[in-house]
Amino acid sequence: MRYDYVIVGAGLYGAVFAHEAHKKGKRCLVLDRRDHVAGNVYTEEVEGIQVHRYGAHIFHTSDPAVWAYVNRFATFNHYINAPVANYKGELYNLPFNMNTFNRMWGVITPREAEEKIRSQIAAAGITAPRNLEEQAIALVGTDIYEKLIKGYTEKQWGRPCTELSPSIIKRLPVRMTFDNNYFNDPYQGIPEGGYTAMVEKLLEGIEVRLGVDFLQERERYCALGDRIVFTGCIDAYFGYCYGPLQYRNVRFETEVLDIPNYQGNAVINYTDRETPYTRVIEHKHFAFGKQPKTVISREYSAEWQVGEEAYYPVQNEETGALYARYRSLAAKEKNVLFGGRLGEFQYYDMDKVIARALEAVRAELGLTE
Ligand code: UDP
Repeated sequence: MRYDYVIVGAGLYGAVFAHEAHKKGKRCLVLDRRDHVAGNVYTEEVEGIQVHRYGAHIFHTSDPAVWAYVNRFATFNHYINAPVANYKGELYNLPFNMNTFNRMWGVITPREAEEKIRSQIAAAGITAPRNLEEQAIALVGTDIYEKLIKGYTEKQWGRPCTELSPSIIKRLPVRMTFDNNYFNDPYQGIPEGGYTAMVEKLLEGIEVRLGVDFLQERERYCALGDRIVFTGCIDAYFGYCYGPLQYRNVRFETEVLDIPNYQGNAVINYTDRETPYTRVIEHKHFAFGKQPKTVISREYSAEWQVGEEAYYPVQNEETGALYARYRSLAAKEKNVLFGGRLGEFQYYDMDKVIARALEAVRAELGLTE
């Protein structure tokens, strides 16, 4: 049996690509190294609770087409992400908003908050931010930087804030209103029944082989397909010939607790430097669960080593230059398309991954929409 497409990776990118190609009559084979589909958005039921095994995934988008698309494969609940930061026992609302400013400084009005931030920016002497530290101070001042950003960011990325890109912190809204919604996007929610069911629906009718490491059996699988869609790490595809790119790895310590409610919120960030984990997820709160037990996961961030699972691409000047070299090799692989967070080495959110997969498959099949 030959396939039009051998798709490596059953995460969102691979599943969307496969779904669209299959719909147009293309023969697709999807491979995944893991023993399950859905990549890092994989959820599994434990004690009646959908557990996000590879970390919290909250779907949010500003793109009505992507929102309409995902709603064809799942019903989304009305979850709104409103994480809380715990700094040495002091609790602050995130993202940075009037609730945070009130708790930090006792300010009551937006004007007072703006004044406080302005005076801290001036005292720090920042005009044109060159790195994450300066960008953070330019957005919210030094107090919030010290208590809610510095420790968390350095744990998450394993690098000083002065060596990180300002773009990372620009993901977070700063608001002069009492609004704890972490995202600005108009569409948000979590698929009822979990992400795995949604990905299974995308993959309906498509052959999937699990536990297959494409890179170990490259010749065999390349021979099976006319075109390869590769969603793994681009540097791994080329055998790290220019040296590995940089990624962050995440480890989860998951526990079932015999109590109904552990922390009262789905996400609590530990923003001090000393607590070894970055956040604690209590999974049931993503779906307003009323189960008698609860499942929590402590999230630990670590530097990635070759051979481990890669979660976050570390985007900086050095990796940007290295990625460009891998891109030029990729351009010569005429029958291979690289896509997704790892294939494109981009810190994409789920909606962006879906949009990129749709763009790619439409270009591939010569479709206009
Ligand atoms: N961040 C922070 N303090 C927080 C939460 C986030 O400083 O309590 C910063 C940090 O630099 C982090 C970035 O915001 O890398 C993006 O965080 P987010 O939680 O959105 O990233 P995710 O891991 O969910 O993609």
